[in-house]
Amino acid sequence: MSTILEVKNIEKYYGNKGNITKAVDNISFEVEKGEFIGIMGASGSGKTTLLNCISTIDTVTSGNIIIEGSNITQLKSKQLSAFRRKKLGFIFQDFNLLDTLTAYENISLALSILKWSAAQIDIAVHEIAKTLNIEEALEKYPYQMSGGQQQRVAAARAMVTNPALVLADEPTGALDSHSAKMLLTNLEDLNQRLSATILMVTHDAFTASYCKRIVFIKDGKIFNEIYRAKEDRKSFFNKIIEVTALLGGEQINVF
Ligand code: ADP
Ligand code: MG
Repeated sequence: MSTILEVKNIEKYYGNKGNITKAVDNISFEVEKGEFIGIMGASGSGKTTLLNCISTIDTVTSGNIIIEGSNITQLKSKQLSAFRRKKLGFIFQDFNLLDTLTAYENISLALSILKWSAAQIDIAVHEIAKTLNIEEALEKYPYQMSGGQQQRVAAARAMVTNPALVLADEPTGALDSHSAKMLLTNLEDLNQRLSATILMVTHDAFTASYCKRIVFIKDGKIFNEIYRAKEDRKSFFNKIIEVTALLGGEQINVF
């Protein structure tokens, strides 16, 4: 297996002398190609900060992040935007679709920027739309779609370029339980069939139960790590609940 992501001793501090928040406090882990990994932790534990450092949205205070061999902490801003376009896909809690574009246009935008031909784009968009079950929504604008459809369009947009790493921050946070299940089943399917490598941040045990591995963080540090071996999703869910109880104080949403 090849390593897609190496996070080495990263720290992210906010504030200044006398009033420092260690949002990420010396975190290290690796992600192999084809993994579906979850980062779990209570609100304020540093999940978004960690994800933003990996996604190049934010910079680290110290440490190194290596994605497919490139040390992103050493790239300049121009190199970073090219890197992001080619190597990363993003799924946000609030979908972040462009309101004035149809689903088809939202999904194809990244491919146009990468200078794919119209014919290639058409094939790729229809293929990913089929996988995510949004073919009938392709000509619709975001306001004409349900939240669940919008998030599946966002997932299609993130996946269509076949990025090395897909990053998702609380992707089910704005969805009802039915739409959340549908999205997670789709992500699981994309992970299994296309070997898409997905790193998902969530505070929700049900959402996390779709992952194959979960890293728990507390106060900016890694607290524990569990793998889903051969067990079914329900027993993995129960395991997650146990660790979450050890973590202490986190509210648990059970759909
Ligand atoms: P999570 O996503 O797990 O809820 P965050 O990464 O958003 O946690 O936040 C981790 C910690 O860092 C919190 O204590 C938060 O208040 C602090 N923090 C996050 N962003 C900033 C910022 N821009 N400035 C100062 N403190 C921040
Ligand atoms: Mg967050």
